[in-house]
Amino acid sequence: AQERYASIRDLPATTKCGTTISLQMNAGLIADLPSLEGSGAEGVGLFRTELQFLIRNQMPRRAELSALYSRVVKSAKGKRIAFRTLDIGSDKVLPYMKPNDEPNPAMGWRAIRVGLDKPGVLRMQLQALLRAADGGPLSVMFPFIAEYAEFRAAKAEMDKAIAREKILGHILPSKLEVGAMLETPSLAYAPKAFFEEVDFISIGGNDLKQFFFAADRENERVRKRYDTLNASFLQFLQHVIARCAESGTPVSFCGEDAGRPVEALCFAALGLRSLSMRPASVGPVKHLLRRVDLNEVRAIMDESVARGDHSVRRSVADWLVYQV
Ligand code: PEP
Ligand code: MG
Repeated sequence: AQERYASIRDLPATTKCGTTISLQMNAGLIADLPSLEGSGAEGVGLFRTELQFLIRNQMPRRAELSALYSRVVKSAKGKRIAFRTLDIGSDKVLPYMKPNDEPNPAMGWRAIRVGLDKPGVLRMQLQALLRAADGGPLSVMFPFIAEYAEFRAAKAEMDKAIAREKILGHILPSKLEVGAMLETPSLAYAPKAFFEEVDFISIGGNDLKQFFFAADRENERVRKRYDTLNASFLQFLQHVIARCAESGTPVSFCGEDAGRPVEALCFAALGLRSLSMRPASVGPVKHLLRRVDLNEVRAIMDESVARGDHSVRRSVADWLVYQV
């Protein structure tokens, strides 16, 4: 598939109306990094660090992690990587940790909740990341932030890690960005101060959608029942984009839906300027974006919503047939 899009690999995803969308890729292993060049992605919008923890049978040591992140940073050759701190619990259970027997793990003790309650692993991870940056820029984001206080507590861990590195005489990143993943609807209504403080927001659409519609992403029966292009969900995304715009906070979308062509088009038309997806989706999404005028997409979406359609998918897909 990558060969098919090789001719546009090094061209920007600029639409007919002159808007450029930054296309990033999702990754989780060193083996994913070569795709950065092959796909033409501008960077890694989501690096899922838990995969490294999941594929081994004991907790990695800090030096090992640091060496690993350092390889990831070097393989990216200067492209930005947004490292997401450990998101365990729910569907991701570490074989060497006592499973927490919870009736509803997706809404349970997971991700940043574990990181803040038992900060040992988070601290180790932050220190490993700071060292791996080796004096270059570093972007870190915390998963599953549900409220401002949680972000502040997580950021305080980063501040402590930096202070420790300073005392030890280690070199600090030239530029540090600390972001939050918006995966629960609550964060969209956080105080303005949150949006002003956070360096960037990454919308984790997989989890966000499951909580927005109360539909388990692991449950085949209900997973496909609700459309991402449902008018209510789009309105919610619109709200998030507006809040970020108000504070000048960069926002991107990194759930699987960003890699689906019609979704990517609608997200761009809503105002998202950065999308992170599977490497194989970068080519097809770019191909499509380069052929459309987002104002037209937006008009189709607005008409569909005004008509009372519950999803804009049909209207946009029908229109698209005549464009490409
Ligand atoms: C998400 O929830 O959309 C996301 C990107 O994270 P994950 O799929 O790893 O939960
Ligand atoms: Mg998630």
